[in-house]
Amino acid sequence: MIIDLSGKTAVVTGSTAGIGYAIARGLAASGASVVINGRGREKVDAAVKRLAQEVEKAKVTGVAADVSTASGCDALIAAQREADILINNAGIFEPKGFFEIPDADWSRFFEVNVMSGVRLSRAYMPGMLKRNWGRIVFISSESALNIPREMIHYGMTKTAQLAVARGLAEMTRGTAVTVNSVLPGPTLSEGVETFVKSLARQNNQSEEEAAKSFVKQHRPTSILQRFASPDEIANMVVFVASKEASATNGAAIRAEGGIVNSIA
Ligand code: NAD
Repeated sequence: MIIDLSGKTAVVTGSTAGIGYAIARGLAASGASVVINGRGREKVDAAVKRLAQEVEKAKVTGVAADVSTASGCDALIAAQREADILINNAGIFEPKGFFEIPDADWSRFFEVNVMSGVRLSRAYMPGMLKRNWGRIVFISSESALNIPREMIHYGMTKTAQLAVARGLAEMTRGTAVTVNSVLPGPTLSEGVETFVKSLARQNNQSEEEAAKSFVKQHRPTSILQRFASPDEIANMVVFVASKEASATNGAAIRAEGGIVNSIA
């Protein structure tokens, strides 16, 4: 199967680093025109430059906008009016005990992780339906199904994304637009790498040992028994965004190494 996305425009939120960047690179390598997004101009410009170097003939532009706010989403939409592919990737996480999570954190997590995808889907999906082709992918998490006790607020937002994605998919009935979620497990993005480095320092271990023991201790049901790489997640997302994935709609697709101990 050769995935060819030439002629399609893809917006990937939170794509200056981590899983988002890997998705942007994967889509660009498949021929899509990619819009990189992050909060700061400098990081966005650096990511655009990096992608142009890493992918030959990449068609890539960047928009600096904070998608955690309505005005930030408006700024992104004003800069990029239409999209054939929308990847709702921007997301935040922070371990914090339930009794320590203030209201402000619940609201902030909901704004960044859920409302960004709601606002951007509301803006881009009508054009997809009109053109009768489109892909919306929400980057959720295995934490949508296995709510982590150390960050219930994060789990709540990741489950909410599944609800929104499934509801939007219902609106595509009979069209060639699809809306799906991809659920990564622990993935060595830049943010997580910093966390693993500090674990290694704390426990006097190599980074590899620290990463392995984290998975063993905190995600014992993992069949993969290691962190995934951002590219391993991006591969799944690029497939879901492709023309070839036309029969997959309304699905919650797991790329989490088998952590969720269920068949369906
Ligand atoms: P990351 O922190 O490494 O990168 C996130 C990117 O989003 C960065 O480019 C950052 O600048 C950008 N960003 C953050 N807030 C933003 C905002 N308000 N507006 C615009 N850009 C913003 O994150 P990651 O680990 O690559 O995670 C990406 C997605 O994958 C998230 O939705 C996360 O919940 C999900 N996920 C990650 C893991 C993991 O282990 N890394 C596991 C499951 C799910």
